[in-house]
Amino acid sequence: MACLVQLLSGGLIVKQFKTESKKLLDLMINSIYTNQDIFLRELISNASDALDKLRFKQLTDDSARENSTSDKLAIRLSFDKQARTISVEDNGIGMSSAELEKNLGTIAHSDSRDFKQLEEVANSKDANIIGQFGVGFYSAFMVAQKVEVLSRAYGSSDAYLWESDGIEGYTISTAEKEHSGTVITLHLKDNTDDENFDRFLSEWELTQLVHTYSNYVRYPITMMVTKS
Ligand code: ADP
Ligand code: MG
Repeated sequence: MACLVQLLSGGLIVKQFKTESKKLLDLMINSIYTNQDIFLRELISNASDALDKLRFKQLTDDSARENSTSDKLAIRLSFDKQARTISVEDNGIGMSSAELEKNLGTIAHSDSRDFKQLEEVANSKDANIIGQFGVGFYSAFMVAQKVEVLSRAYGSSDAYLWESDGIEGYTISTAEKEHSGTVITLHLKDNTDDENFDRFLSEWELTQLVHTYSNYVRYPITMMVTKS
């Protein structure tokens, strides 16, 4: 019996997305008119927000200042050609299990008026206009068949892994992570006759996207390049 309890509390949460989230995800996944490139802008902008939040905490909270590591606040990009993954990492505020569930399971940022507008724009099949909206985290599912979010909240020693294919729901399980912050890993969709997702697995391409869409970010953005 003790063993059974242990297994059940081993920490796997399985959840369905909220209705509005499902609609937005469906738009993201199926709108072939959308400018897919903006996924990186959205993930970098979230990383930058997470660094802002940590910086603010360190400025306003004495214990956070004392505990502050000498690590420079930064954003790191990496990609793996073989595994067909792209990662965006920050050493910012991170998320607890409850925050992963709340922040990534619902669309907190857009009220329903924004959502209606976004839906209209997406349905209007206008190629780039959707890029003007802050479509957020879910835009990762335009290019990824699976997204993993490994996160450790600042001040906590617990880490969690949020995983989803962006269709019905997501899981959250306990994980290991050395420092606070978040690593978001995109498992790219398979290429089709019309779409080549492998184009993102390139230092040049990712650098271009950063220059085009994320020039305003005030934290250093570095890229891990593995020479083979
Ligand atoms: P928005 O950025 O407009 O709030 P998003 O859909 O982009 O909406 O992100 C949803 C929420 O998920 C954010 O508000 C934030 O709380 C959380 N989040 C996303 N990425 C990160 C990250 N790298 N670090 C910490 N929290 C994050
Ligand atoms: Mg955002």
